[in-house]
Amino acid sequence: MPESQLEVIYDDIGPEYILEVYDPKLNFSGVVVLDNLNLGLAKGGIRMTGTVDPVEVSRLARAMTYKNAMAGLPFGGGKAGIAVDPKTISLRKKKAIIESFARMLKVIVPKYYIAGPDINTTEREMAWFADAHGDWESVTGKPADYVSKKGGKTRRGLPHELGSTGYGVALSTKVALAFKEIDIKDAEITIAGYGNVGVFAHRFLEEWGAKVIAVSDSSGTIYDRNGLDHKKLLTAKTKTGSVLNYPASTTSKKLSRDVIYELSANVLIPAAGPDVINRSNVERIKTKIIVEGANIPMAEQFEKQLHKKDVLIIPDFVANAGGVISSYAEYKGYDEKKMFKLVEEKIVLNMQVMLATVAKNGHAPREVAMKIARQRILAGAKRKK
Ligand code: NAD
Repeated sequence: MPESQLEVIYDDIGPEYILEVYDPKLNFSGVVVLDNLNLGLAKGGIRMTGTVDPVEVSRLARAMTYKNAMAGLPFGGGKAGIAVDPKTISLRKKKAIIESFARMLKVIVPKYYIAGPDINTTEREMAWFADAHGDWESVTGKPADYVSKKGGKTRRGLPHELGSTGYGVALSTKVALAFKEIDIKDAEITIAGYGNVGVFAHRFLEEWGAKVIAVSDSSGTIYDRNGLDHKKLLTAKTKTGSVLNYPASTTSKKLSRDVIYELSANVLIPAAGPDVINRSNVERIKTKIIVEGANIPMAEQFEKQLHKKDVLIIPDFVANAGGVISSYAEYKGYDEKKMFKLVEEKIVLNMQVMLATVAKNGHAPREVAMKIARQRILAGAKRKK
């Protein structure tokens, strides 16, 4: 969908419901879009930014409809937005806004929509939401010590901070490498962005024997052809805020931030913001596999351009579905171990199903996955009647 979309687009999938709320006392507005409920109640996070509006939330809700369907979850797609820049208010006010939003959403939560974390909302905000709403099931991504007892069973929160998304991205990379007949132990990987997704992708790929030769964050790129040690890099990043403070060696090099997209490696994992691969660098991409950890790291036109050059691009809504699979596990009351197992089963299966079709018809993985998801959504509509 174009960046410049000015109004909500209605089509044969949705959006089915749009709820706009306004709290006159706290003077903030919010919106929830339930894009499609064919496969179950709508699932998607709450974004809190100064610019979020119904159009942006509707696009994100649509992405969730496809992501949940492709992940094989019994969830429809939804998303919520609170139009406040948290940097402009006190933490106390942020808490009051989240609590008010939770109470206003009682009309649809948890019957039609279950909330979760997104930009500027973390496990802390999810705990505030659940407390104010009053139902443990109203939201996922709660802290691990956020406990409830139901039918003699103890249920705990499963925060995204456990690394489910990065784990799914690492698994997608593993399956993509096998598809290209590259042994993971011979694989050289670059990771652009070293936050929740990038850190955990690095950890698991290293565990499986791959070499992560370059990692970037907003301060620059650190490169070592012998591989970057996960523990050392995480310590440097946590202590100093920059990957560039990785302990220097004879083979390590500090490079500029965006050069990471142009390095030679087997796999590039964008795990930061949107549109990092664009008109200015697309011609210089050298990796033959790109696993989209971030959402929309490039516009579809550039994916198509790279597909023509035989680059295998694992689309965001397939590769980064680990977070929402973890949400489902939390909703079902699973523990951490069972959650990781579920992420593995679902990501590996969905990757294999998608790539089997890619092998047959040569179409781009995004096109194939969209078709699979759409078939599931439309089949769900028949069951809903
Ligand atoms: P995060 O805020 O934890 O980390 C982002 C990282 O990117 C930071 O290290 C930051 O320094 C770095 N960064 C910022 N600008 C950069 C730039 N221009 N170049 C290189 N690095 C840059 O974010 P996250 O939770 O890891 O999410 C990363 C991406 O993955 C986002 O697109 C997000 O929407 C997507 N995603 C995250 C999850 C999740 O569970 N966290 C789930 C699905 C999708």
